[in-house]
Amino acid sequence: MTQPCNSVNSCNVAVIGAGASGLVAARELRREGHTVTAFERQKLVGGLWVYNPRVEPDLLSLDPDRTTVHSSIYEALRTNLPRECMGFRDFPFVTRPEDESRDSRQYPDHKEVMKYLQDFAKEFEIEEMIRFETEVVRVEPVDENNRKWRVRYKDSRGVSGEEIFDAVVVCNGHFTEPRLAHVPGLDSWPGKQIHSHNYRVPDPFKDQVVIVIGNQSSGTDISKDIATMAKEVHIAAKPDTYENQSSLYSNLLIHPTIERAYENGLVVFQDGKAVHADVIVHCTGYKYRFPFLEPNGYVTIEDNCVGPLYKHVFPPALAPGLSFIGLPSMALQFFMFELQSKWVASVLSGRVKLPSEDKMMEDVIAFYAKLESLDIPKRYTHFLTDPLWTPMFEKLKPHEAVVISQSEYFNWVAGQCGCPSIEHWRDEQYNISVKRDGDTFRDDPWDDRDRLTKEAYRDFAKFKP
Ligand code: FAD
Repeated sequence: MTQPCNSVNSCNVAVIGAGASGLVAARELRREGHTVTAFERQKLVGGLWVYNPRVEPDLLSLDPDRTTVHSSIYEALRTNLPRECMGFRDFPFVTRPEDESRDSRQYPDHKEVMKYLQDFAKEFEIEEMIRFETEVVRVEPVDENNRKWRVRYKDSRGVSGEEIFDAVVVCNGHFTEPRLAHVPGLDSWPGKQIHSHNYRVPDPFKDQVVIVIGNQSSGTDISKDIATMAKEVHIAAKPDTYENQSSLYSNLLIHPTIERAYENGLVVFQDGKAVHADVIVHCTGYKYRFPFLEPNGYVTIEDNCVGPLYKHVFPPALAPGLSFIGLPSMALQFFMFELQSKWVASVLSGRVKLPSEDKMMEDVIAFYAKLESLDIPKRYTHFLTDPLWTPMFEKLKPHEAVVISQSEYFNWVAGQCGCPSIEHWRDEQYNISVKRDGDTFRDDPWDDRDRLTKEAYRDFAKFKP
């Protein structure tokens, strides 16, 4: 295991990405006394929240040589969580009613999230640490002790360079590389196919018959958006999830998953119903990808499990020189980024100790074995959630569910770096919110909304300048 650069308690650290995770990582690293250079290939901070009306030419994003568009945000997107629980702890995502250009709704649109991240960057003077329009193309240890890391990069004019750092913190996001559904017969199905990564507006679907595969957040939102223009929208949903769906849209129909697609354009669902569709939209999630680490022998991705990683952050053999922020999905993202960043920053300075490489590896192996014993597939290794609301985890007993519980994880990480546990209102607001659905859930009143919002704002008062 690499030693923290604690001889001086300050490291020279490269951060890859200036989305929400890279921004808070840069802030926490600097707060801890490190020197930070953040590399960002876009022109702006915000990552995924930098809306881009352009999409990739290959609508399924299969071509490895395509020009990548980073954002997967569609025009109509509003947050799927109330803003209070979504924000960073000490820079709350409060409403700004005094500013008419801001969206003061509790579930604001994507532009408001972007403005919030820009405010955050400004408040903590993060942009001065960022090299914009500079893509990291290679990261590798300089010596066999992994004490130094070489970062190679290329800027927008094609100028390349390399620098040596004590540590690299990977914050490159994981909502850009589409994962596709495997549907028998789809290869020779003649219609158009697109992944939600390349969906922006419903207009191109006017009067068409559309099948949306998947009914998680993006699938349900996008199918309703398309239903405003299309002739029919058919959602193909996993068993146990599709009955919960209700809809205001008479042209929106829910089915179980697709049985088979045919060369004549017919698509048959597992309930025996069949439709002639024009388009299939894959809302089937994303894959982790770290092209700048390939090929390597130290961190691999197998069935969407990035490993081995101690507590989703540190590869035991390379810790603390290489770390990953933001891998767990489903969880309260910004809050988690903040806690993980504090942990990484304090480990790098030597203020907080990691277990030995062997002990971390033992922990990873035990974690994988636990997931396997609970029949949790490898591809869900980085799922953190409230198990009770996720149908596929409902069967877990409370003591088993601990393994994927986000609050258990947050409190463990918080404990490592001496931070308070997750606030009661935040945990409750998240747990209530993720169970809410229906066409207008973002604007409908909900039980305990006022109480929890008041509790949140009482807490926020501590952080007002
Ligand atoms: P990103 O925001 O993707 O940022 C990664 C950054 O790294 C990008 O700026 C990218 O340009 C840069 N980068 C990548 N590779 C390189 C490289 N090689 N060199 C230099 N720079 C690089 N979360 C919520 O909390 N609430 C929501 O309502 C919500 N809605 C969502 C809706 C959609 C459709 C999706 C896909 C996700 C949503 N999320 C939501 C989750 C969201 O991903 C996180 O909130 C968060 O924004 C991710 O931040 P990140 O910094 O990890 O990644």
